[in-house]
Amino acid sequence: MSNPHIEQLIHAATTFYRNGWMVGTSGNLSARQDDDSFWITASGRSKGTMSSHDFVRMSLSGEILEAVDGARPSAETSIHQVIYTRFPRARAIYHVHSVEGNLVTSFNDSDEAELPPLEMLKGFQIMEEQPKVTIPVFQNHSDVARIAREIHSRFQAQQFRMPALLIRKHGVTVWGETQEEALNRVELIEYLFKYMVLARQLKL
Ligand SMILES: [Zn+2]
Repeated sequence: MSNPHIEQLIHAATTFYRNGWMVGTSGNLSARQDDDSFWITASGRSKGTMSSHDFVRMSLSGEILEAVDGARPSAETSIHQVIYTRFPRARAIYHVHSVEGNLVTSFNDSDEAELPPLEMLKGFQIMEEQPKVTIPVFQNHSDVARIAREIHSRFQAQQFRMPALLIRKHGVTVWGETQEEALNRVELIEYLFKYMVLARQLKL
């Protein structure tokens, strides 16, 4: 099976794994096709050694459309369904578990994380000087469907400029209109998180 979406998903997983953001089997990545179905990483697969068999094709309503050898979709697939439904232009959703992404949600109990006004924000089309930009922070629950429901209702009520959300002491989820854009945005936002952690250590 040679599918360009899957090839790019494997490339992204390898890149994030090497950065220490998808250690072991953690994190999940998906890409939406023109027919609105999406490929997502199968549950329990090592992100450093992914092959084309490690993906499942899902419908937006959560049915398994294609899977090799009984592969199960990521346990966090419902979050991808919510984001694709809420943001029709999103074509890729990448979710990683970095150390910094966990630490920045430990700074306070706020349900929004304020990002530093760095040049890097231009990668998100935020061009003004000294922008005040936040991303929503959600509680982590062992019941993933509950996280997905909370994301759904919050995004119905509130708009954010950043195509990203954090789950407390869990990780960040970023989306883009192409897989390349989603990959770049994960790298940019992880840079911002690293800066936030260092700035706090240095008491800047
Ligand atoms: Zn996760």
